[in-house]
Amino acid sequence: ICDQGGECDLQDQAMGYGRAAFNRFSENKRAVEDKYMGPLIKTIMTRCIQCTRCVRFATEVAGVPDLGATGRGEDMEITTYLEKAFSSELSGNVVDLCPVGALTSKPYAFNARPWELRKTESVDVMDAQGCNIRVDARGPQVLRVLPRLNDDVNEEWISDKTRHACDGLNRQRLDKPYVRENGKLAPATWAEAFAAIAARMSATKPEKMAAIVGDLAAAEEIKALKDLMTSFGDVNLECRQDGAKIGTGPRQSWLFNTTIAGVESADAILLIGANPRWEAPVLNARIRKAWTNGPVKIANIGTPVDLTYPVEQLGGADVLSAIADGSHAFAKVLKDAQRPMIIVGSGALARADGAAILHIAAKIAGDSGAIGPAGTPAEGGWIGFNVLHTAASRVGALDLGFVNGRDMAGILDGAGKGEIDFVWLLGADEFDVNKLGSAFVVYQGTHGDAGAHRADVILPGAAYTEKEGLYVNFEGRVQRTRRAVFPPGDAKEDWAIIRAFSQVAGKTLPYD
Ligand code: SF4
Repeated sequence: ICDQGGECDLQDQAMGYGRAAFNRFSENKRAVEDKYMGPLIKTIMTRCIQCTRCVRFATEVAGVPDLGATGRGEDMEITTYLEKAFSSELSGNVVDLCPVGALTSKPYAFNARPWELRKTESVDVMDAQGCNIRVDARGPQVLRVLPRLNDDVNEEWISDKTRHACDGLNRQRLDKPYVRENGKLAPATWAEAFAAIAARMSATKPEKMAAIVGDLAAAEEIKALKDLMTSFGDVNLECRQDGAKIGTGPRQSWLFNTTIAGVESADAILLIGANPRWEAPVLNARIRKAWTNGPVKIANIGTPVDLTYPVEQLGGADVLSAIADGSHAFAKVLKDAQRPMIIVGSGALARADGAAILHIAAKIAGDSGAIGPAGTPAEGGWIGFNVLHTAASRVGALDLGFVNGRDMAGILDGAGKGEIDFVWLLGADEFDVNKLGSAFVVYQGTHGDAGAHRADVILPGAAYTEKEGLYVNFEGRVQRTRRAVFPPGDAKEDWAIIRAFSQVAGKTLPYD
């Protein structure tokens, strides 16, 4: 009855050493009351062998002193002290490191045994870090996601979002094409959906068309959509749904150049409009590791945040110019540092003055010696200018040049005024879709969310566990997801949908 069955260190020991036939345990058996650790962690504390791995993880890696041991000897118990949830965005990792079945996954409780599961090595897309994961599926269902070891990216950790978002893969999925008729979406065949789009596209002009790439799109479909749209002419292309003012300079201007592993070598870090604890929890654990291992001075410009390590709050964006002209005390800290790091977050880039902030951040990086020779810190190189993205598709889309013509605000403004009358959303609905006015909207995606509700034609696509797709993480690392299960119903891989449509539109793409 233990969920750890089949992957339990203690069970393995018992199997290895054999049955203790002459060694009955004659004392009273110890029983410990189960503890509440929140909605994600199930506890059966009688099984706890008090190795305190979970306590060390919470205190040292996650940086939250929520777990501890009370009592001594036989009375020792692992607890959250006040029966409160384990409040960390990395909490699920204690389930993996508990060697017995004392801590197990609550949502996954009694769902499957490990030997029933098909295990597929893949990459996460819930943030832009590209954590290496293993997707465990049974039949057509993804049942759980576990971390895979990669010291350069995520070590052996994943965030709770990465681990538990897989239950959304089974709910509210788009599994057939739809076409809007008389104001209502009605199920349609692929041919009918393609015909409706082709008719609309041939009736409009390239400058009135726009395509927006969503946060979870793989490079293949981004490339296919770009090729398709540009075959019609000079159309508007946009991949920065949040309005980030980025993507026009050299590639280094939108990468996390220091690399994730390189963070450990930094000795001064300036965060500008970034909250790595929410935007890339595993990167935040790496920054905490750097702080634990050595003297690192960390400061933040923007909203004060609790990042699980001491951060000097410098104030708002106006502090930036003081650091740039050297009149602020932190300018000296950066200058005196051997390997300073500047991290610009999406919060700063999405502001109206985002381009100016990026420019000043680059100047601070240059003046403080953060731009050294190219290469990784291990090779003697150091580039301390970094952009922290939150969308898995963003770097890939910028690399592929999915930026042309009007920006996000310009597209929405144009749609409201009738200057844009055709919009292709590739899984993009992280903006106010009501601003699309009376434009004809194609929504190609996986879930019946805001974008699908607004759409005139819905094309059902494949989620990241259902396709082979290239993703480029924020440090520029290209990784591939693998197919663990097939897309539901009539849904297809996204690049194949675009390729099939290109034939109907008479603009056949040169790959099959
Ligand atoms: Fe107990 Fe598991 Fe924590 Fe070890 S990791 S102390 S066995 S709950």
